[in-house]
Amino acid sequence: MSVVLKKKESEKINEMNSESVRRINTLHPSLVSPALNIFNECMRMEIPIYIVFGARSTQEQDFMYRFGRTVPGKVLTQHRGGFSAHNYGLALDFCLRFNSSLLTWTEVLDRPYWKSKWVKVIQLFNQQGWTNKVNDPSFEPGHVENLLGHTIGELYEDAKARHNWNKDI
Ligand SMILES: [Zn+2]
Repeated sequence: MSVVLKKKESEKINEMNSESVRRINTLHPSLVSPALNIFNECMRMEIPIYIVFGARSTQEQDFMYRFGRTVPGKVLTQHRGGFSAHNYGLALDFCLRFNSSLLTWTEVLDRPYWKSKWVKVIQLFNQQGWTNKVNDPSFEPGHVENLLGHTIGELYEDAKARHNWNKDI
């Protein structure tokens, strides 16, 4: 019985790791291999990182933006479509997992062992030029981004011109 459960648990963990890798692969081509290296480094250091989000479309972003505003629920993002680094494949959201259960920042905050792992993930990203915008009003503890030297405004204007966006924001 317990052997079966263990097998199931390890299959679940493998599946979660594959999900993380798939999400990393949605990133901007310049960020895929650096992010995979960080992911592998976490695995090596026994930091059970789980990638919750990679790139998302501006439509998905607009959908998320409605939560906690025009749609009841928790506010999920501070950014409208086109104004999140995720819309350009330049951001990842992560959390940790204990076996196959997810641990969010609020759950690790008072647990030094887990909190130190979380902080270590951010350090690994920081070392590769990513930021988690700790001083920004839209700070989210599990969000890291790398704008590759651009600003969100530049990326937005560029995408707007290329895709003929007609958004009134
Ligand atoms: Zn994010």
